[in-house]
Amino acid sequence: MPNLRLARRVGRIQPSATLALTARAKALKAEGKDVIALTAGEPDFETPMPIRQGAIDALHKGGAVGRYTPVGGTPELIKAVIEKFRRDNGLDYKPEQILVSCGAKHSIFNAIGALIDDGDEVIVPAPFWVSYPEMIRFFGGTPVIVDTSASGFVLTPEALRKAITPRTRLLIVNSPGNPTGAVWDRQAQQAIADVVAGTDIAVISDEIYEKLVYDGAHVAFAGLSTDAYDRTITVNGVAKAYAMTGWRIGYVGGPLAVVKAMNALQSHSTSNPTTVAQLATLTALKNDPKELPDWRRQYQARRDRMVAGLNAAKGVKCAVPGGAFYVFPDFRGWIGRRHGDTVLLNDAAICEALLTRALVGGVPGGEFGAPGFVRFSYAASDEEIAKAIERIQRFAAELV
Ligand code: GLU
Repeated sequence: MPNLRLARRVGRIQPSATLALTARAKALKAEGKDVIALTAGEPDFETPMPIRQGAIDALHKGGAVGRYTPVGGTPELIKAVIEKFRRDNGLDYKPEQILVSCGAKHSIFNAIGALIDDGDEVIVPAPFWVSYPEMIRFFGGTPVIVDTSASGFVLTPEALRKAITPRTRLLIVNSPGNPTGAVWDRQAQQAIADVVAGTDIAVISDEIYEKLVYDGAHVAFAGLSTDAYDRTITVNGVAKAYAMTGWRIGYVGGPLAVVKAMNALQSHSTSNPTTVAQLATLTALKNDPKELPDWRRQYQARRDRMVAGLNAAKGVKCAVPGGAFYVFPDFRGWIGRRHGDTVLLNDAAICEALLTRALVGGVPGGEFGAPGFVRFSYAASDEEIAKAIERIQRFAAELV
């Protein structure tokens, strides 16, 4: 057998916990277990028919749909992205400042790849989405984690100031946030923009949950000032807003030199994102699907049900998130308690017990840099949410 040595850079990363736990919950389901998987951040709605129809029509027509497009997307799609940024965020970009990629995750990967060298520091507010630190480590950077749990999951200017060193190259912001659902208001974001103003620190603003805000309003970081615009890579995509996770389309608007470098990187990996998915995205971006307001109402009702249900479970405390489709309850009240013969030592043990005994799947907060918490996605049917709450409450009552 040859000794196939793996690259050191892959040794620095772990598989995505959100995806791994989703796969585990699905596998248990396939075994016939009645598991409610609140693990993945994936809308349970169908991609709207006009969007799918756009793709179907293109497939029937043939020709261009089976061909490469320019690396960063078709000129029509780039134009639609420019219009979206202008209409929704008041941001003006030239076509060369736009790059369409295979999902917002790919956009972020490209951006970090274009910006980070060995030893560079990247400030990541915690709780964070699982993939940020992993991508940073993959590219040789050092994630500098700044805990925000004492300030309502909002990064304060003081905490940010303290984390900055001469090696800081990048800051990642994410509002509405995954896993907390926290929505950072204009004042909070402005305070952050003021700290980085005049430095050489780039900002990735991950705005993938933009359309899912229930309290307050979405604020585009790049729109705060000319200084913010010049340093920010704004990431967005169609997955969460339009129930299009499987289509894998994300995009950015950002500083020309950064986007050019991202484009070069993408030209040696995926080339263009799948042509048929670009065509479907074109329909989605031209007009928000008519279903969106109703989806938003449904998500908000589910959120309220989840928060109330979790707060009614003994030992659980759940804040009301302003956006996205996650709740991020504090389960520290369960740590050290016993369920049958098992002591719940940490959030991983809590999730394992909830999955295998209560048949409810969640993701341990430790994966997001917040041990003692658990993330549940409420992008699930009303019936599933009602059942999940009942099971969690029953499990809580069984703890000794
Ligand atoms: N972003 C979603 C989540 O956090 C999808 C899975 C992933 O890409 O991490 O669950």
